[in-house]
Amino acid sequence: MPKTERWQWYVESFGPSEQHHHAIDELYFAGRSEFQEIAVIRSPVFGKMLVLDGDTQSSQADERIYHETLVHPALAAAADRSEVLILGGGEGATLREVLRCPEVVRCTMVDIDGKVLELAREFLPEWSHGAFDNPRARVIVGDALRFMREDSDRYGTIVSDLTEPLADSPSHPLFNDQVFALIRSRLAEGGVYVLQASTAAFHNAALHCKMARTLRRHYRHVVSFFTHVPAFDTDWAFLACSDRVDLATLDPKIIEAYCARLRGESFFYDAVTHRRLFALPLYLRRMLAASGETF
Ligand code: SAM
Repeated sequence: MPKTERWQWYVESFGPSEQHHHAIDELYFAGRSEFQEIAVIRSPVFGKMLVLDGDTQSSQADERIYHETLVHPALAAAADRSEVLILGGGEGATLREVLRCPEVVRCTMVDIDGKVLELAREFLPEWSHGAFDNPRARVIVGDALRFMREDSDRYGTIVSDLTEPLADSPSHPLFNDQVFALIRSRLAEGGVYVLQASTAAFHNAALHCKMARTLRRHYRHVVSFFTHVPAFDTDWAFLACSDRVDLATLDPKIIEAYCARLRGESFFYDAVTHRRLFALPLYLRRMLAASGETF
């Protein structure tokens, strides 16, 4: 029997004419929560994967690339690391990475979907690696937008690890000018706001550029960085926003000192990787500099 007939497939569509087919070794869960379609599968290549509304969120094989990139450049640059806020972050790996930093006194994570957290604990414990039960973690099941409206605390670093802001996603209301201003108001003096910010692939970077343009209204420095994430099958981009520091020119000595203090061993991020993450290709620099759509 040809191999293709043996497999069930998870097909991730990148548009009407592009797809990535992942064979499914094992299906742990498929169902709908109050907020989204959820699947937890195992692929022969990427290991366990979390899929929300048909989009890969992270895979066992390469989640450290994504989560170390999301968290550590921002924390390395932040003036104050004591209080960190994560918007979303369901799997718990963003929380895990934040808690590796010994200067973090408390990390608050607010994810809207209790079902994602429950499945992450049950099927993806490698991602959180005990972080949900760490005494420095405050895990809240709720809407991050509502939380920020009701909470008056300020945070030295805010990490947005939300799903793509597609029209029917619960993350959609968090991507607009008013909410960017609200997030800005929850940052402490000299703070850093970092967000996962869609793909930076040359043919598909419009959403990323739209986020960057809108955020420039609120911060002195808004810098893009990206890396290839194999399970996403694309270059994944992030944005770091700050009035105090331009992460693209962060002193390597600061990064080395920061990395040396982290608990446990890193897989991806260090001062050399930092340089590579922030060295953008010409096409992207041109797209980011061009005027265009904002939120
Ligand atoms: N790595 C991811 C990606 O590539 O899109 C993001 C990971 S994380 C699983 C995304 C989380 O955002 C989900 O757990 C989802 O429940 C959460 N989320 C979506 N909208 C939210 C909202 N309004 N408030 C809080 N969490 C939200």
